[in-house]
Amino acid sequence: MSAKKGSNRAELAANEVCVRKNISKGELVIVEHPLIKHKIALLRNKDTRVNVFRDLVEEISMLIGFEATADFPLYEVEVETPIAKTFGHKIEGKKVAIVPILRAGVSMINGLLRLMPLAKIGHIGIYRNPDTFEPVEYFCKLPTSISKRSVLLCDPMLATGGSAIAAIDMIKKRGAQNIKLLCIIAAPEGVKALHERHPEVKIFTAALDERLNDHAYIVPGLGDAGDRIYGTM
Ligand code: URA
Repeated sequence: MSAKKGSNRAELAANEVCVRKNISKGELVIVEHPLIKHKIALLRNKDTRVNVFRDLVEEISMLIGFEATADFPLYEVEVETPIAKTFGHKIEGKKVAIVPILRAGVSMINGLLRLMPLAKIGHIGIYRNPDTFEPVEYFCKLPTSISKRSVLLCDPMLATGGSAIAAIDMIKKRGAQNIKLLCIIAAPEGVKALHERHPEVKIFTAALDERLNDHAYIVPGLGDAGDRIYGTM
């Protein structure tokens, strides 16, 4: 019985590296690779030290980036190996812009640059007005020709969705048309809110958690991602 269960689980792991969920109007991709699950458990642990936490964020970002770029179009090229001529592929068309939301999103840059070393990097800064609770833009510097780029917007925690929605508003206002959101942990509330406003933006996450608590923290989550990355607890 247990052996059978084990082999089913192995099959599942092999066949369902990512799960596409329909909890909102848009597409949510949960990248469910065993390596990611292992690393997420370490990341959630409150005793994980800051240096390990940073490395895990980088590694998980790279693994999510792998899935988020799976639809990049290819063209065929001829290649000459030391043995023979053959055909290979190169990535065609759109250039990439990695755009982290300050400050926690910055921790995802290096993992993505490992995959796409020539990607350009933008930055977006947003804070919440303490009186109105409305997101306010305080910084936006994007690479040139943003309208022709594939934008990978990064924020490790998709909680209420407020910052990500505001960031996408800002990027779209500057002409971007092809935007994906990469996060590490998402709350259903954030996924729903984001897709209400921007249904065409695909969300890639390593985990979909239960809910938000009264302070808008993700449960079970991992705490304040920025504080854990920068050691500012
Ligand atoms: N931002 C965080 O860093 N953690 C949460 O749980 C929610 C938002």
